[in-house]
Amino acid sequence: MALHAELHRHLGGSVVPRVLWRYFERHSTELISRFPNYGEFEDFYTRPRNTLDEYLELHTLVESVQTVETLPYFIYRLVRGAYIFENLAYLELRYTPYLRTPEHLSQSKRIDKMAEIVDVVGKASHIQECPIVTSQILCMHSRLPFEVNKAIIDLAVENRQYVCGIDVAGGDSYYADRLQEWISLYDYARSQGVNTTGHLYETTAGCYPELLPYLKRIGHGIQIPLLYPELLPEIARRGQCLEVCPTTYIKTGTLQDIRQLKLVFDRCFEAGVDIAICTDNAGLHNVRLPFEYENLLTYDIIGFAQLQACQEAAFRHAFAWPYTHRPASLLNGLLQPETPKVMAMKD
Ligand SMILES: [Zn+2]
Repeated sequence: MALHAELHRHLGGSVVPRVLWRYFERHSTELISRFPNYGEFEDFYTRPRNTLDEYLELHTLVESVQTVETLPYFIYRLVRGAYIFENLAYLELRYTPYLRTPEHLSQSKRIDKMAEIVDVVGKASHIQECPIVTSQILCMHSRLPFEVNKAIIDLAVENRQYVCGIDVAGGDSYYADRLQEWISLYDYARSQGVNTTGHLYETTAGCYPELLPYLKRIGHGIQIPLLYPELLPEIARRGQCLEVCPTTYIKTGTLQDIRQLKLVFDRCFEAGVDIAICTDNAGLHNVRLPFEYENLLTYDIIGFAQLQACQEAAFRHAFAWPYTHRPASLLNGLLQPETPKVMAMKD
């Protein structure tokens, strides 16, 4: 049985529309009054946007309801869905803890509150009846000041039980003005032994070669094989993995046709660069991980052998998978106890 590893999923974008709608029905009549019925809400929530900025706006809708009190409600449903419908054995959940703290508090009070959020997310992710290895990636944010982003790294350092790495999110076109700052933050994270990934080379406006050496994995990175394939040998040499999230590029208007990803996969395979296929925002897209896999096969972007290579790469590059092998190799022995020799030689 193939069990999967998901390396790039946002806590905000993981809430499937039905769960969010139910939550609004129960708690927030004001938001729900904007939509006459569920169908209209689902359409609004999942429809493609023109730009990454417009798309990211939607996250604020979910962030506003994900508080220290409500996070267990959403995370329980998220992990249960991932276990039942996606066959996940491993899940890294990412989010910006600062954006889950009360807005009316001062910056320093909000920073102090972040530890509680990490603890709540960590505890809520462990569900006895849905055994998935989970860990958190804390996202620095392009619109947050240096002090907050540095505090996010410190939080990762202090909470290794629950946190396996850091990221930067919020739109990759915004890093340019503060590039030195991002370099120093990543440099600091690495000096503390924190794993690093970052939303980079997602759009044509988010290509910063200066940041690449600081990352263990690259969030998206699709513009590298598309526009700067000359960088691929160096990426391969560093053993960096691209977290490719196929549906995202259509929802954000970054690509017009999913088949444009064929070049991404072909060039990476040729250069020996690993790719982990991820969902990014499975709820917002209403597309779960097995369907991302299936879509890539359906559109002839990759074949089965390549798909399996990507699935193995996901476990290899997982920051907190505690075993040397992926779970299939552990299960195969159980599910195929003793094949009679005659049967095994058939064909
Ligand atoms: Zn993302």
